[in-house]
Amino acid sequence: MKFSKSFLPTLKETPAEAVIPSHILMIRAGLVRQLSAGIYTWLPLGYKALRKVMDIIREEMNAIGGQEFHYPALNPKEIWEQTGRVEAFGDIMFHIKNRDYVLAPTHEEIVAWHAKGAVASYKELPQIWYQIQTKFRNEPRPRSGVIRGRQFIMKDSYSLDRSFEDLDKSYEMHDKAYRKIFDRCGLKYFVVGASSGAMGGSKSEEFMVRSDAGEDTVAYCEKCGYAANVEVAQSIAAPAKRHEESKEIYEIHTPGVKSIDELCEFLKIDEHETAKSRIYICDGKPVLVLMLGNDEVNETKLQAALGGNVRPAHPEELKEITGADAGSIGPVGFKHRIIADNLLKDANNLYSGANKNDYHIGGIDLKRDVPQIEYFDLRTVESGEKCVRCNSTLEVFKAIELGHIFKLGTKYSEALGVNYLDENGKEHPVVMGSYGIGVERVLACFLEQNYDERGIIWKKPLAPFNIHLIGLNMKNQTVSETSEQLYKELSSMGYEVLFDDRLDASAGFKFNDADLLGMPVQLIVGEKNLKNGNVEVKIRQSGEKIIVQLSELKDKLK
Ligand code: ATP
Ligand code: MG
Ligand code: MG
Ligand code: MG
Repeated sequence: MKFSKSFLPTLKETPAEAVIPSHILMIRAGLVRQLSAGIYTWLPLGYKALRKVMDIIREEMNAIGGQEFHYPALNPKEIWEQTGRVEAFGDIMFHIKNRDYVLAPTHEEIVAWHAKGAVASYKELPQIWYQIQTKFRNEPRPRSGVIRGRQFIMKDSYSLDRSFEDLDKSYEMHDKAYRKIFDRCGLKYFVVGASSGAMGGSKSEEFMVRSDAGEDTVAYCEKCGYAANVEVAQSIAAPAKRHEESKEIYEIHTPGVKSIDELCEFLKIDEHETAKSRIYICDGKPVLVLMLGNDEVNETKLQAALGGNVRPAHPEELKEITGADAGSIGPVGFKHRIIADNLLKDANNLYSGANKNDYHIGGIDLKRDVPQIEYFDLRTVESGEKCVRCNSTLEVFKAIELGHIFKLGTKYSEALGVNYLDENGKEHPVVMGSYGIGVERVLACFLEQNYDERGIIWKKPLAPFNIHLIGLNMKNQTVSETSEQLYKELSSMGYEVLFDDRLDASAGFKFNDADLLGMPVQLIVGEKNLKNGNVEVKIRQSGEKIIVQLSELKDKLK
């Protein structure tokens, strides 16, 4: 591609609206331009790199037997109502005015809709259906450039299986494919246990890139590899906010988890390991207690913990205290944990330093009296804490979610009636999985990890061009003829060459642009070196410069 004939709008200055490196670089190097908040146009250079990401994704999805679809973004709202997700997505979902349509934020419903009747027999299973397509989400705070768009490209795939064992296989295949994709893209990433959020389902994991620009918080232990999204704790059983009317009550939210059975499946635990929440009145003040197991709470113990007289709250009291029906408070629980209002405060102290090794909370010696407690609350954890699995130091940091894999189970197939017949003619719901990658985030995260003060440092797999050929003074006939000749030859050899053939740009200007655009190899053709039959090769990453004989150039480039 010739620079003089291309739309390559580079900027010298840092754009005012951009704060994080990838956003600044994408604008300065002319990869994207913003149309409106969270809505971006990909310019030719950026789109070329983005297509490389898509090609890698496609190859790896095809390698695990994925079949490429293209589902419509404009969806009848009715289908989304059948799974309860118009409500679950809330304001995030874009609605079409005066029409019963929504713009799809993901495609579980549409896949299930097509699978209904089409995969009628076990013989047609398993299936992996994927697409690379635009999604719409009305993100409240679109920032960080394409990392959080209101319109963005996702690779989403869906597995259809006949059993949970087969789902495990499809999930495993996606896990491996994702690792190959991110490795091939040259990203440094890690995998964390994650919450399934509005998707529902049981197991889910996220592929994360460490970055201060991230909006997720991750707790990570280098020693044992334990890694979790703090969102896990929040969405499973987050005492998300204090109730407005009562300063003493925490409301508990369990999105996507409607029953103890579902909760058990979600947490992969037996019912006897779960806890149930109950509101007690302690010296006239309400407290919320999560209890271990099916045992009734030991009121003496609780009394000691809370330091007062304890009794269960009556239903009318509950209504008065919470301003809501008692039913909206529970049931909820999570493994090996007790959190009561007062206990939580003590827990904060416990983990914030003062008495870190003191497991006495409100009069209870936790280690002695409740040995089964794994007393750990991700919401209060800070870097340097001990943890969860191996008792070595935890690191807590920000991360960007690149991809997310879910074991959905039968939530969507049951809601939409997607069934198959087994060998004996018996009907079962199809077992689904869903797997997403933010295509633009892959590119943005690559940039977050590959730049210096001069600009982008592309590596071969995603570089829009392999070689940036610079004709220094194009008014000089030898320079112009040699560089034109090199452009033709290298292109015909299969190299993707960006040729700075501008007549009126100074050498300094061309060098700055080449470093900003960041192709892996720069080939500099100048009068002085040509006199000795030489050209200069500069490696963008190391800054290393080598003088090479023209006759040896092709060998050197290999
Ligand atoms: P986040 O936690 O960042 O909001 P999410 O958990 O809502 O992401 P998923 O529903 O899991 O996202 O979608 C799959 C993938 O799509 C994500 O892992 C991410 O890479 C990408 N993605 C999600 N939202 C956006 C967005 N607003 N802009 C760009 N990519 C996105
Ligand atoms: Mg989101
Ligand atoms: Mg997320
Ligand atoms: Mg996610």
